[in-house]
Amino acid sequence: MFSFRGGLLLVVALLVLMTTLWWAQGTTPAEALALRQAAVIRTAYTLPPDKLKPAQELFRARTALHFVGEGWGILQLVLLLALGVPARLRNVAENFTKNRWGQGFVFAFLFLLTITLLNAPLRVYGHHVAVAYGLSVQGWGSWVWDQAKGFLLTWFVGSLLMMVLFWVIRRSPKHWWFWFWIPTMAAVLFGVFISPIVVDPLFNKFQPLQQRNPALVAQLEKVVARSGVSLPPDRMFFMQASQKVTSLNAYVTGFGPSKRLVLWDTTIAAATPDELSGVFGHELGHYALHHIVRGLLFTAVLLLVAFFVGHRMTHWLLSRYGARWRIRSQNDWAFVAVLALVLNALNFVSEPIDNAFSRSIEHAADVYGQEAIHGIVADPQTTTQRGFQRLGETSLDDPAPHPFVDFWTSSHPSIADRAAFAAAYNPWADGRHPKYF
Ligand SMILES: [Zn+2]
Repeated sequence: MFSFRGGLLLVVALLVLMTTLWWAQGTTPAEALALRQAAVIRTAYTLPPDKLKPAQELFRARTALHFVGEGWGILQLVLLLALGVPARLRNVAENFTKNRWGQGFVFAFLFLLTITLLNAPLRVYGHHVAVAYGLSVQGWGSWVWDQAKGFLLTWFVGSLLMMVLFWVIRRSPKHWWFWFWIPTMAAVLFGVFISPIVVDPLFNKFQPLQQRNPALVAQLEKVVARSGVSLPPDRMFFMQASQKVTSLNAYVTGFGPSKRLVLWDTTIAAATPDELSGVFGHELGHYALHHIVRGLLFTAVLLLVAFFVGHRMTHWLLSRYGARWRIRSQNDWAFVAVLALVLNALNFVSEPIDNAFSRSIEHAADVYGQEAIHGIVADPQTTTQRGFQRLGETSLDDPAPHPFVDFWTSSHPSIADRAAFAAAYNPWADGRHPKYF
């Protein structure tokens, strides 16, 4: 159906389209002014010396964990392939049963277990750091149990997707990258839809916010009314995060009938009602500005590019190293390791693109949130800035993260940038106009 050039054209056209949509969001004069002012305000978010030092240490530890983790994720696959491990796991799976489904689930289990064990030391260290700096209060038993649940879930979903992948590869050896993209996107959509109902409750306890805190719901309803978004109280949830973490958070998730807004109990306990309105306004912004749909579209394009490039690169790797790695063809269970290697490498390269997109969405939600509480909260600028100060203090956020690390790894603008923007953003002054209201 597609030639190489046709596929390349399709991928490039989609990338261009995505970039256009992304930039078409535009910046209002009031927003641009605040962004310029925020760039020079360095006092909107600060930490006292007793918190600054651990915050800087934590930033370094996390940065190391992040990059070492990604590097190790790629290196371990190269080593495993060079040692012929995936081929051996394939042999075990093939000797275990003649049944293809059985083979697939056995291979996926062994492969995933190998990867999980290789990554375990870094994961353990990561949790140790979170506990040492007081960000996590989760005991090791509970932590291991969460890891086990995550493993089983990944094994189950991953095996099913892998079965589909090989089915597609056998039917369309040259264009599987396109045909596999369709069921993958269907799985992503279904995953986003079903996660809040089926997956999230496996890890945390949720309750309707109305049940836990009706007074808060009444106050948040004021923000909802101003926004014009339809968000009935039964779409607001309370999450018991304090059993595991001390940090603050709120998020929107799901779509259609599963779409919802979740506030962590830690946030409700720590923030003032006005600050909570600000946090809520930000989350409502994700809702009102269709960020879940935009995120899904973005993922769809990136995945298509990744599969296309993945197809070319795995093809080249197999022709060059297939014999040495003892992988017979792309229709070999062990091929999954080659694909994982390429996708891991692509994931690393696309990380800054992904994060730049995420930051643009988060900034838009910040603008929306601050505008949404105008007229409801006495001073949206100070309220929002104080909210960021509190958020930064509880999560020990470095006020001056290294710009390169921030650019490469951050899904949100830094707390310092967000606080400075909040302090500077006042579209109601001097005849300027709000962006969304
Ligand atoms: Zn957000």
